[in-house]
Amino acid sequence: MVSSLQQTAGAAQPGDGIEEVDVVVIGAGVTGLYSIYRLRNLGFSVRAFEEGSGVGGTWYWNRYPGARFDSESYTYGFSFSQELLQEWEWKEHYSSQPENERYLNYVADKFDLRGNIRFNSRVASLVYDEAANRWQVTTDDGQQARAQFVITAIGILSARYVPDFEGLDSFEGAWCHTNRWPKAGMDLAGKRVGVVGTGATAVQLIPEIAGEVAHLTVFQRTANYCVPLRNALIDRETQDYIKTHYPEIFRKCSETPGSFMHEFDPRSALSVPAAEKREQYERLWAEPGFKKWLSNFYDVMMPGEANEDYAEFVRNKIRERVHDPVVAEQLVPKNHMFGSKRLPCESGYYEVYNRDNVLLVDVRAAPIARITPRGIRTSDGNEYELDVIIFATGYDAVTGSLNKIHIQGIGGQTIMEKFAGGPRTFMGMSSNGFPNLFTVNAASVGNFVRAAEPLVEWVTDAIAHVRDSGHSRIMATRQAEDDWVQHIAEGGANILRTQADSWFVGANIPGKARVLLTAPDTAPAMRAKRAEVRNNGYEGFTLE
Ligand code: NAP
Repeated sequence: MVSSLQQTAGAAQPGDGIEEVDVVVIGAGVTGLYSIYRLRNLGFSVRAFEEGSGVGGTWYWNRYPGARFDSESYTYGFSFSQELLQEWEWKEHYSSQPENERYLNYVADKFDLRGNIRFNSRVASLVYDEAANRWQVTTDDGQQARAQFVITAIGILSARYVPDFEGLDSFEGAWCHTNRWPKAGMDLAGKRVGVVGTGATAVQLIPEIAGEVAHLTVFQRTANYCVPLRNALIDRETQDYIKTHYPEIFRKCSETPGSFMHEFDPRSALSVPAAEKREQYERLWAEPGFKKWLSNFYDVMMPGEANEDYAEFVRNKIRERVHDPVVAEQLVPKNHMFGSKRLPCESGYYEVYNRDNVLLVDVRAAPIARITPRGIRTSDGNEYELDVIIFATGYDAVTGSLNKIHIQGIGGQTIMEKFAGGPRTFMGMSSNGFPNLFTVNAASVGNFVRAAEPLVEWVTDAIAHVRDSGHSRIMATRQAEDDWVQHIAEGGANILRTQADSWFVGANIPGKARVLLTAPDTAPAMRAKRAEVRNNGYEGFTLE
């Protein structure tokens, strides 16, 4: 079936007027690239807009030293092309940003996706024209397009958050957020550098720069449970094994709750003798990546006694690595459960605090009061003189990236108004009053590409179904949306992810509603739910 509009995206040049396409995709990261590929194969005309000057999304923007996967590289790549799987060789078990960006560029070139993408184009507004059943898409610099369908492939963690510190404008040194690390790098050699935040990003960055700077001050509000990544190069034998075992690797990922290749031990930590439990904790600790978390006794990942037992094991591992017992105790997490935040994976993080040129400042005890021309002043009156401030202060997750676009649906309602109390969608992807708009950035969880691929397939199949069944609009019903919002509240109430103050529940952004921003379900349960909806004729959606 060919495009209903018969116009090939890429033919019109910016400034030529309003381009008409079947589908507009916003974002050219992992989800956006695969959406373009799928839609084109289904015969749709596609225009993608990308704020950056290149493809990659997360892996385009996050150029800070140390940025790398925390999932095994070969479980993260796209699985849709056997040729791609055989051609591409990951160099490291946990691949770094430059290689990840190269990979996504390789994908864009191999499948000739660039022609559909307008780079340096930030979508500012999406307005639904009800009479015409078209979305009017406008970029910051006035480019326009009209499309029947829109996919927001704008990422879960892309709206960077810099706290509203008084005085930032007066700072005489340089500053940046890790998500906007300059392409040319930052000159940190011999400088007094401050890092605000100790989440997964800071924990990757800090060991990389500690040896280069003259002095490093880390401003920590909450200590985290950081676990050793144990990255390594992939040797030839392993490379060959990976290439011949992709089906098995992906099958394994498809069966686990977060789409990682690690399976929980079905035994309870409380059911095995103490020596055996300890042996398992130590054995998994010596393994790379998330294994120590996701291959552990199943109840380590549930609130309760087993979780606290393992948390204490990890706390002691931290204590062993930091020489100064006072600093060690500051680095030991005590106010949240193990696994209730995404685990930062580290390479030499704790040893940084044994260096003479590194100072840890507790900004829970004395919060940052303001930025001064010379540095950072805390509420106890101390001023820390700095040449560079790096904000590793995270993201306004999920809704933050949607709110950066003025999205206006039926009757003038905006997504910002509608989602003020938390996302109101059916399955994270469709909201009543916003026809033919798929917010896929609100629907992925876990090992990102493993979750994103089947999601994109579902959405693009749904768009094809609308066309092929002679319909023109698809939209979640009010009832399905209400039920989903209730499902998130109930299903999320007792899971680990909702127990800590983190981006998972919007608690990192002052004033943001505290709501689980993604589904509480496992990845297999989400896929089954979507399959059921489709098999029942898109139950929960109206097709008009
Ligand atoms: P984050 O986990 O939200 O951490 C932000 C840090 O900034 C926290 O330590 C936070 O303290 C601190 N902070 C925020 N506002 C502050 C303030 N006003 N004063 C002092 N400190 C403040 O953000 P992130 O480290 O960028 O990570 C976000 C997510 O990105 C991760 O959870 C993960 O999913 C993903 N990520 C993945 C990888 C990977 O390996 N693939 C790497 C990096 C990030 P509090 O904890 O007290 O709020």
